[in-house]
Amino acid sequence: SVKLSGKRNYRFYDAKYSDVLRARTQKEEELRYAIEHNQFVVHYQPRVDIFTGITSSMEALVRWAHPTKGLIGPNDFISLAEETGLILRLGELVIDLVCAQLAHWSNRGQELVPVSVNVSSRQFNETDVANIISSSLARHNIDPKHVEIELTESSMMGEAAADALASIQKIGIKILVDDFGTGYSSLSQLQKMDFDVLKVDQAFTSQLEASEEGTVFFKTIITMAHTLGMKVVAEGVENIEQVKILKDLKCDEIQGFYISKPLPPSEKQPILPRFFLPSTA
Ligand code: C2E
Ligand code: MG
Ligand code: MG
Ligand code: MG
Repeated sequence: SVKLSGKRNYRFYDAKYSDVLRARTQKEEELRYAIEHNQFVVHYQPRVDIFTGITSSMEALVRWAHPTKGLIGPNDFISLAEETGLILRLGELVIDLVCAQLAHWSNRGQELVPVSVNVSSRQFNETDVANIISSSLARHNIDPKHVEIELTESSMMGEAAADALASIQKIGIKILVDDFGTGYSSLSQLQKMDFDVLKVDQAFTSQLEASEEGTVFFKTIITMAHTLGMKVVAEGVENIEQVKILKDLKCDEIQGFYISKPLPPSEKQPILPRFFLPSTA
């Protein structure tokens, strides 16, 4: 009967649902354990000036060094960390790993290139990021000019965002808008907020060669950003054709596999030699 099959279906989904839930709970426990036992490493991906080829900064990208599964990328655990609130501790851990690494490089007499750290929405909205970063900087004796933070547009929608951003900038830390173009900041918000850099999402970089429209879109962002006094970074640059177009559009900086993959930390800060970019003459 209808009633019986309805009931069977319900049981079927119920069993599946509890499997999913169990797996999730297990992963959450593993993640919690990993945070308590420092199973994380940070890789660094350079961002270079498109005209000089000089590395202007390096992005800190976290990886979970799982004892049996090897290195796990952030796409496999950041959203769970965000949903469970574990991101608050993980985020603090990443900031501290970065500051410790900068101190290590600096103690070896190296001239430092700034490192940009991704800050999640909850981390930004539920903790005092300015305070967390400045204590970590002080603990490792690092100048704030060596650190930048990356925030997405949607993280900064809250009422308190402007004040939080201002207190971060007051310390001397630059703010980059990550994945720009995928959220919904208004022009007035961009104007009000005094961001330093827009990182245009990879989705738009990949449209550059595909269509005239893609190029026009990028050009519009660059014009707007420059008008508002912001630099523009193209994310996910993978080939020389994209570099050529971006150079013509006067994009300021590029990041992506064409330049370098994220690199594990070595004894010296893995700064690239001055990168040679194609001339468009
Ligand atoms: P994101 O901040 O937009 O970082 C860029 C991502 O694109 C990185 O992936 C990077 O490895 C990848 N990428 C760079 N160049 C290219 C390219 O040319 N082609 C392609 N296909 N990909 C490229 P990753 O390391 O897997 O990180 C993914 C996301 O995880 C990051 O996106 C960021 O949102 C988040 N994430 C990473 N580290 C942290 C962290 O410490 N804290 C927080 N809250 N989030 C983080
Ligand atoms: Mg980022
Ligand atoms: Mg991004
Ligand atoms: Mg992204």
